[in-house]
This record gives sequence, structure tokens and C-alpha cells, in this order.
Amino acid sequence: MSPHGYALPVDARTPQGWVVETPCGNTATLAAGTPIATPAVVLDPGHGGGETGAVGPNHLREAVVNLAVSNVVKATLEANGVTVVMTRADDTRVVLTTRSALVRKLRPAAMVSIHHNSSPDGPRNDPGTETYYQYRSPQAKRLAGLIYEEVVHALSQYQIPWVGLVDAGAKYRLNSQGGDYYHMLRETAGTPSVIAELAYISDPPEADLLARPDVQRVEGEAVARGILRYLRTQDPGSGYVTPLPRPSTDNGGGSEGCVDPAL
Ligand SMILES: [Zn+2]
Repeated sequence: MSPHGYALPVDARTPQGWVVETPCGNTATLAAGTPIATPAVVLDPGHGGGETGAVGPNHLREAVVNLAVSNVVKATLEANGVTVVMTRADDTRVVLTTRSALVRKLRPAAMVSIHHNSSPDGPRNDPGTETYYQYRSPQAKRLAGLIYEEVVHALSQYQIPWVGLVDAGAKYRLNSQGGDYYHMLRETAGTPSVIAELAYISDPPEADLLARPDVQRVEGEAVARGILRYLRTQDPGSGYVTPLPRPSTDNGGGSEGCVDPAL
């Protein structure tokens, strides 16, 4: 942990200090820092800073909602005795390579990226939640099914017109080489990892829900319940679907224009 509170992957220890990967993916040497003990769970609030992620019709930024929900997940897990490290704890831009390197260094029991979706296929009768798991990991698949089950159950209390993909559910997505499409799943192999797209920030009624702290709490507590059941039960989870092929899209997280904060 850097003096200003950034959880950064350490590549080496030298007489000058810790050689770390910065939020923008550069290398820096820190004369001071605090080692981070291996946590049970790494939470990864998607996007941050100038890289906002999707923006709702109510101007709500995905990065802000992702962090608010992640903070609820963290507090709920910690109240249940589960240790947590976050890849970002404020509205700072952190590139994907630094996030995944942190997971590889810490080797937690589970990693969950928190996101909110856009570009649905159309209306649905139930929440269009998606959870993506590592294709070759039965553990990640079970974690994805448990988070899916809890989030859909929790959001179903709201009577609004939902949207989603026709193949929403707990699923995988592969790249042209047959590996996991998403960086945070592909580059964290060895740690059961899931990307949760909880609801559609691009959908006006869902964006209005997501702006409410009580709804952020409902989402965060549901994700935490899914993680707790993964850690403490053998429950199988549900919502598994076979995904339809999808064209590649740029999902952000690169380093172009990134400016590191004071570490
Ligand atoms: Zn996102």
C-alpha cells in the first residue's frame, strides 16, 4: 500500500525501495509503503477517474456507481469476517494491467469486478444481470452463478421495465484464440474470477434506480451474499447460459492519456 493509500503490485524490492506498477501502468520506486496481506477477496470497481465507463441518461457515471456498490460489498464481507482488498478505493483511473497484476501478486480466494451494463438487445421481464466467469474454471463458474442468483433475486423487488441481452445469465466469453475475452478474467488465471454486470445504467428506469444509495446497498449486499455462499457453502449457483457469439468491442481500461496521482 503506497503512502497515499493505493494498493499497487510490487515487482521488486531494491535498496531504493519498492518497485511498483502505478495506477497508469508505469513503473515507480517507492521509498515507503506498507505490505498488503493476502486477502480472501479482491474487489475490482470498474473504470475510474477520466475513464468513466458508461454514462446514464441521468448523467450517472458507471465508475461512481461501481465504487459505491463495491464499498457496500466490502463492508458487508468485512462484517462477516472476510478480508478484502480493492483495486481502487477512490475515483482514480487504474489501468487493467495494474489491476490484474495486483490480483496475481495477492492470489486471493476470489476476485470480483463490479460493472454496470449498456447496449442491451431489448426489453426483458426480469433484470438483465450478467456474470462472466473464466471458461476453464469450475470455481469461477460457481461464483458467477451464485452472484447471478443473488443479484437477480434482489433486483426483482423493483417493478420496472428491465432490459438485457437475450442470453443474459452466468456465462463466459471467449476471444478469437479461445481464451477468456475479458482482461480481468484472462490475466488472473489461477484465481477464480468473475466480472459482474449488475444492471443497465444506459436504461433510464435502471439508471434512476442506480442513483439511489438504498439500491446501491441492495446490489452490494446481494453480491456479498453470493461471495459468502461461494466461500462457505457448496451451493451450485444458477442462471447458466450458453452465450451467443458477439463481435469484439473496446471495453476500455487502457493507459492512453492516463496521469498518475501522487503515490
Ligand atoms: Zn464497465
